Amino acid sequence: MGGGALKDSYGRTIDYMRVSVTNKCNLHCIYCMPGKCFEGDDVLSMEDILTVCSCGAELGIRHIRLTGGEPLLRRDCAELVYRLKNIKGIRTVTLTTNGILLRDYADRLFDSGIDGINVSLDTLDREKYKFITGADELYSVIDGIQRAVERGIFVKINSVIMRGINEDDISSILLFVKHRPVAVRFIELMPVGEGSKYIGVSGAEILARLENAKPYTKRIGRGPAVYYKAEGYKGIIGFIDPMSNKFCPQCSRLRLDSDGRLRSCLAYDDGFDMLPAIKTGREAVKDVIKKAVAEKPLGHCFEKGIAPKDGMYCIGG
Ligand code: SAM
Ligand code: SF4
Repeated sequence: MGGGALKDSYGRTIDYMRVSVTNKCNLHCIYCMPGKCFEGDDVLSMEDILTVCSCGAELGIRHIRLTGGEPLLRRDCAELVYRLKNIKGIRTVTLTTNGILLRDYADRLFDSGIDGINVSLDTLDREKYKFITGADELYSVIDGIQRAVERGIFVKINSVIMRGINEDDISSILLFVKHRPVAVRFIELMPVGEGSKYIGVSGAEILARLENAKPYTKRIGRGPAVYYKAEGYKGIIGFIDPMSNKFCPQCSRLRLDSDGRLRSCLAYDDGFDMLPAIKTGREAVKDVIKKAVAEKPLGHCFEKGIAPKDGMYCIGG
């Protein structure tokens, strides 16, 4: 096994792969999923995903996050986590989910050895949740979070705030974290797909509402979030600001999208079709990974109006 580090042409270490395991979803969030009913496909088999991730591990990938679409719609999700965890070189396997199926999945995910789960939750108001996601499932998500926390899984909540849509929900999201040992991360909306129809709210604006918040310096996860701890809070509060605090120079990621394309940046449609390489063999897969890393752009150009045509449900967020 190689065990070296994967470096891109700007000297960044690339050790993290997000895998969009499906583009199917049981929600249609207004800022993500176009149309009312989306019927997708699972293009990549479990073996395909394992092949790409194990080849990645030989080159230097150490952290894997499963996402989608909704990853828990794949019945093999917990087994996939277990098998990824057993790949030599892989240190953490995590998952990002909308949480609807989490209550039923939490035990199996815990047993699979998962290192953490991110649950997307943009409001704690039942009607607003229905408006944003198209489904009356707020309480399933809260139950799922509860169950995962009870099992001892580290949970982070992802909240996307849109101007005039769920700005009023910031205080109740903060209150939720005040009483629970979980992290919340406010993710600034990116102008990708349906997201370009709404206006995001920056972390700085949200932070200004928090009294007595102090920077939290302990490292949490592998991502770009900046964390704070507020007095009297059990949980911690993080901000991921791709627009107002561009963190591309520190990016360590590759993305395997739900069509089987390896993308070196979420902001462009460019990518390498992995399926022919998977059919050819492991050396071909490794060559594609090296090529994607070599061609990784320095960063997004959202501020210049350049954005991908594919939606986040395909790219994986
Ligand atoms: N279905 C799962 C979920 O919702 O957590 C996983 C896939 S979803 C695409 C991953 C994350 O991307 C979610 O936290 C979602 O809120 C976020 N997301 C989707 N569209 C976005 C956008 N335009 N800007 C910022 N975040 C976005
Ligand atoms: Fe589905 Fe997640 Fe997109 Fe919502 S954000 S539509 S849950 S993929």
